[in-house]
Amino acid sequence: MELTKLKTLLKEGGVVGAGGAGFPSYAKLDEKADTIILNCAECEPLLRLHRQVLEINTYEILSALEIVAEAVGAQNIIVGIKSSYTAALQALAAEKDNFPNIKISEMKSFYPTGDEVVLIYETTGRVVEPGALPISVGVTVFNVETMLNAYNIIKNNKPVTTKYVTITGEVANPTTLQVPLGITLKELVDMAGGATVKDPAYINGGPMMGKIANPFDVVTKTTNAVVVLPKNHHVINKKTANISIDLKRAMASCCQCRMCTDLCPRHLLGHPINPSDFMRSATSGVTRNVAPLINTVYCSQCGICEMYACGQGLSPRTLIGEYKAGLRAEGYTPPKDVKGVGVLKERKYRRVPTYRIVTRLGLGKYDRPAPFEDKSATPKKVKIMLSQHIGAPAKTDLKEGDKVKTGQVIGRVDEKSLGAFVHSSVNGTVQRVTDKFVIIKTDVKDGD
Ligand code: SF4
Ligand code: SF4
Repeated sequence: MELTKLKTLLKEGGVVGAGGAGFPSYAKLDEKADTIILNCAECEPLLRLHRQVLEINTYEILSALEIVAEAVGAQNIIVGIKSSYTAALQALAAEKDNFPNIKISEMKSFYPTGDEVVLIYETTGRVVEPGALPISVGVTVFNVETMLNAYNIIKNNKPVTTKYVTITGEVANPTTLQVPLGITLKELVDMAGGATVKDPAYINGGPMMGKIANPFDVVTKTTNAVVVLPKNHHVINKKTANISIDLKRAMASCCQCRMCTDLCPRHLLGHPINPSDFMRSATSGVTRNVAPLINTVYCSQCGICEMYACGQGLSPRTLIGEYKAGLRAEGYTPPKDVKGVGVLKERKYRRVPTYRIVTRLGLGKYDRPAPFEDKSATPKKVKIMLSQHIGAPAKTDLKEGDKVKTGQVIGRVDEKSLGAFVHSSVNGTVQRVTDKFVIIKTDVKDGD
């Protein structure tokens, strides 16, 4: 398929990174890419999403990869997948003859293999330099559901109206479902049999990088999981800690052991991020050497330093995040062409196995299957966000009382702006419109 046509289809079909920040997929298509990687690493503990999406939709996902690779002229297609995903690997093996040019690259289960920079190194040996994009080393990475969505719009003219989500933790029946965009997290938890603790806390995403969520937050194109934990669980306490107390605790007890730096995945790839130096500078009023503060821009926010490495229970990631946000607010942009020092030789001994994180975080009892169930969700209404992606929010011209159909465009982004179209996920009537979202009351079918 011709590249311009493919870009238009993806933008108007609403295809964005189905996880992470939701980068519009058309904007990643670049003829400088010689390699396309499918990210099936799913490094967050407890999530069971990507392996199952790939297992169920193997042909469609591999087909989309081939179409994308052909459009940009990439010669190499690699599926980056963990060796432990045996069912997905079997599904890939069954399609081997249909896709002889697609290479499977198996990886061990450590965190964060799903980080693009880590994945690229593991599957190609190429190192993305600090602050650079994957395309700088000729690579473009797509997540499995993104490629499924690409296939659906390319082959079936079906835009993005649903999301696969794993619902796990303190729920009666951990499961993975395909649900309409705009349904609430609470409805998802109910579909998983409901919370099994009196005081549930919700995480939108995985325990390492996910954010505390409100049960009435809604599913967007980037919602991968809802993890329910008791409110007093260690992981919830870490995520709800007060940042000024985090800073005072760091001042009182960072012993400069360097464990956070020794295990930092970006530091191990030679990037100039150094959480222990940052902690020293941030807590001791160092003013001469600002590099550890400025270099926070190279942190991926993976959380290894604070969720796993620090024996004092301190929070380098959170404090670094705060500092980064301050730099962004001041309009700071990192210099171009920064070079790392190369991959550290000790890296291979310092990758953190996912099972160790599960144990350290007290998540062992939740580390169980969440099988895909082909169940229909029947929300009474959906709240569709107009910004489910990086870039300009979509603009809608809908008004109260308008009738919409599933798949109908309800938000557009103009030709020049980065972004993606937004579509209705149900048949129904528009109940409320703002510049941030559209609420649609679902048509009730006879017998409902
Ligand atoms: S691991 Fe904790 S105590 Fe050690 S240097 Fe890092 S923040 Fe300080
Ligand atoms: S969150 Fe911590 S471990 Fe992860 S990249 Fe940032 S400093 Fe390194």
